[in-house]
Amino acid sequence: MLQNLILAKAIDLIPDPIIAVDEQGRIVFTNEAHKNLTGWHLSEIKGQNYRLVYEILSDVNLLAEEKKNFKQEAILYKKDGSKLTLNVTCSALKHDGLPSVKLGQIIVFHPLFLQVEDMQKTSDDFVSTVSHELRTPLTSIKGFAETLIKSKDKLKESDQKRFLQIIKEQADHLTRLVEDLLFVSRLDNHKLHLTIRELELKKHIDRVCEVLGNQAGGRIFIYDFQAKLPPVMADSDRLEQILNNLIGNAIKYSPDHSSITIKTQLEKKNKSRILISITDQGPGIGQEDQELIFTRFSRLDNPLTRQTKGTGLGLYITKSLISAMKGEVWLEKSDSTGSTFSFALPVK
Ligand code: ADP
Repeated sequence: MLQNLILAKAIDLIPDPIIAVDEQGRIVFTNEAHKNLTGWHLSEIKGQNYRLVYEILSDVNLLAEEKKNFKQEAILYKKDGSKLTLNVTCSALKHDGLPSVKLGQIIVFHPLFLQVEDMQKTSDDFVSTVSHELRTPLTSIKGFAETLIKSKDKLKESDQKRFLQIIKEQADHLTRLVEDLLFVSRLDNHKLHLTIRELELKKHIDRVCEVLGNQAGGRIFIYDFQAKLPPVMADSDRLEQILNNLIGNAIKYSPDHSSITIKTQLEKKNKSRILISITDQGPGIGQEDQELIFTRFSRLDNPLTRQTKGTGLGLYITKSLISAMKGEVWLEKSDSTGSTFSFALPVK
């Protein structure tokens, strides 16, 4: 009894906000620092789903994984309606004698002062990566434009056309890059407005595939849709943007005349979510790169990526959009026979 009191007091003295949830994701405990930061008193949120207070921006389900003290990013929803993005450490609560029995999860939110340094470094890295990404197409545009100005008369008409074509393609790439960057900035600053409503998934997949079908070369779409699926809760334009990115990647990173399978089903273990998976027959993604692909500007260095155009922001945007719609995305499988990207969205 005294031991429990001492423990509870000690946890309240810790300056880091702490929250514990049970195996169903219901809030069971918060400490004093959590109350001070969020404004939520434990009595107001006890027994409620954790999503009222925070959202982990990651595809790792700790209750299903064997990861200990895993560092992730999370959004914390304060009582006054404002949000904070923080680093968190998550740890699964397990039964002493029965390690396979998961009792819940403890989340520790990290002190802000440590994150200021992290943020400064992230921001410096971001500026330097963006500058590099912008400089590459600009150098090419400048070089070809100078050649055309200086030596236009000496160049064959076919070369002039080719140089102009390269300038146009690089300018298109720059436009895409700037559009993606502006979108990322709105996402990161939580300035993106989503209209979440009930949507019939099949209608949106059909629409995206109809447009992408024109750019799919000889690739074949195979549909494996579960009948009578309930509607998903999502923003219609953003859902199509996600499908466009994932199916677009399946086209870009797979050989001509291969097949791309799009499967939908109600999640077996958690019937409140629909799973959508996209499987291609591409060369797969190496084990060491699998963690990287959802981060900003991650274009893998392989012949397929070099041949295709892209900004390396598609999967980062996809992941952020899915998280904002209270879903999850992950790389289900990737080997030399192909890759499967899956994502889950809530049903009503
Ligand atoms: P982009 O396609 O613009 O380069 P993404 O963020 O969509 O950016 O993807 C990041 C990287 O992940 C790609 O450059 C590619 O190397 C790799 N990738 C994505 N999807 C696939 C896939 N289906 N098969 C193989 N590699 C992929």
